[in-house]
Amino acid sequence: MTNLFAFDPPDRVSLPVRHSGLRFPVGRIFCIGRNYADHAREMGHEPDRNPPFFFMKPSDAAIEAGIPFQYPSQSRDVHHEVELVAALKAGGSNIPLDDAMRIVFGFAVGLDMTRRDLQAEAKRLQRPWEVAKAFAGSAPMGLITRVEDLPAVPQGRIALSVNGVEKQQGLISDMIWNLSELISHISHFFTLAAGDMIMTGTSAGVGPVQPGDRMLATIEGLEPLEVDVRG
Ligand code: MN
Repeated sequence: MTNLFAFDPPDRVSLPVRHSGLRFPVGRIFCIGRNYADHAREMGHEPDRNPPFFFMKPSDAAIEAGIPFQYPSQSRDVHHEVELVAALKAGGSNIPLDDAMRIVFGFAVGLDMTRRDLQAEAKRLQRPWEVAKAFAGSAPMGLITRVEDLPAVPQGRIALSVNGVEKQQGLISDMIWNLSELISHISHFFTLAAGDMIMTGTSAGVGPVQPGDRMLATIEGLEPLEVDVRG
C-alpha cells in the first residue's frame, strides 16, 4: 500500500465469470425503465417508442449468486424485476448502433430489486428514484457468461418464480429497445467504461417478496439465478 490515499479504498465490487477463474469488475449499473410493453401497461403507461429513459445503481448494488438478498429498511413493498444484464468490456461515447455489440463482454440474469412504495412516492413528488432503486444489494446478479461462450445474444424466454410459483415471464425479443439501441443511446449521454453493466428492463408480473421467499430467475441460455430473501 502506498500513501497515495488518505485511507485504504474499499475493494472493487466484482462478479464471477462462468467457465473462467476470473471476476468481472463492476462499474456503474445503468437500468432501463419500461422496456417491455406489457410491463409498461401494468405500471399504468401506454408503451411507446419515445427515447428510452434510465436510472443508475452504484456498484455496491451488485451481489453475486449465492448471496441472499437482504430485505431493505424503510419499505414494506419490495418488488422483484427480472432482467437481462449486459456486462461491458470496453466503453466510449456516441457509439454507433453497428458497433454497440462489440463492447459487450457477456450476459447474466439479474434482479432489479425495488422499494416500490418509495418509488411510487418519488414519482408522486417528482423526486429522483435512488431510495427506491439504488440501495446496497439491490441488484442480485447471476454468473456472467462470456459472449464467446454463447451461440448468440439471448433472445428467448425470461422468467421469474417465487417459491416455485411463476410470477414473471416474457421474451427478450419483445424488448421495445434492443441492446444495441440501449448501448448507443446511453453512450450519447455518458461515456461508457469497461465494467459498466446495463440492466435491460423487466417484463410483466412484477410483485412483492417477503423474508423467507426464494426467487428463481431464468433466461434461456444463461445460468439461472436463485436468491433467498432474508429478513
Ligand atoms: Mn427494472
